[in-house]
Amino acid sequence: MRNKIYRLIAIIFIIAFFNCMLLENLYSIKKERLPIIDFKSIEKIDKIAEFSVTDESINEIKSYCEQNKIDFIDFFTSYMKYNNYEVDSVSYDYDNKYYNNVDNTKEIKQIYKIILSDIKYFPIPKNKKTNNHKYSYCNSWLAERTYGGERKHYGTDIIDCEDERGYFPVVSMTDGYVQKIGWLELGGWRVGIRAKHGGYFYYAHLDKYAKGIKEGSKIKAGEVIGYMGNSGYGKEGTCGKFVVHLHLGISLPLNEQMDDFWINPYWILRYIEDSKVTKKY
Ligand SMILES: [Zn+2]
Repeated sequence: MRNKIYRLIAIIFIIAFFNCMLLENLYSIKKERLPIIDFKSIEKIDKIAEFSVTDESINEIKSYCEQNKIDFIDFFTSYMKYNNYEVDSVSYDYDNKYYNNVDNTKEIKQIYKIILSDIKYFPIPKNKKTNNHKYSYCNSWLAERTYGGERKHYGTDIIDCEDERGYFPVVSMTDGYVQKIGWLELGGWRVGIRAKHGGYFYYAHLDKYAKGIKEGSKIKAGEVIGYMGNSGYGKEGTCGKFVVHLHLGISLPLNEQMDDFWINPYWILRYIEDSKVTKKY
């Protein structure tokens, strides 16, 4: 009997030990994966952050790369650099001059890799039921904001046209883990997801979180993380200071302190708008 108990204790101890090892490993992998680059020192970084490339152009570049078996991020970086980071439409006279011009763009390539490699789904899922409840969004990058002093808008607002709190589910655009969750004066109830290549995806002004979501939770792309709301601009619980919308921000990892460096999500959202998971709501 006593032997049995000792054996049981030993087994529990071994399982607990390996669990701890596994968790430790998971966290160290996440940390190691974050590229620590001084992005701010890159020439024309503000232009890069503006991410001024139409969804049609991204799609065209992507299919060109697939047809010609060229690395998409490589080519995309060269193409953007060659065109001064402003692409309305892609011209068809492709030339190796774009592709061969990748010198000194390691960091810029890394930026595009962080932004584009992990996104899978639009943050609002398709509704299984058909109805007319619509959302809308526009390019409001660096628009003026006044709450808490004059500042700029570093994201895209997806607005519920019916202004109904808690109606639209919000899904994660990427795989990753919940790095931050909780109340922010400006962002209200927010979830911040760190994706595999280091991008930080910030979902703000939520009405509520999805059940079971907490700091450190592993998240799959397309998983519901919360519901669209109008929380924020005050002490915890403040709601209704503006229309119901999701503020989406995408940030690069800058250094170990994880300062924010925001990228305009507008064209990225347009680019993945047809990639939606289906949910019932
Ligand atoms: Zn916003």
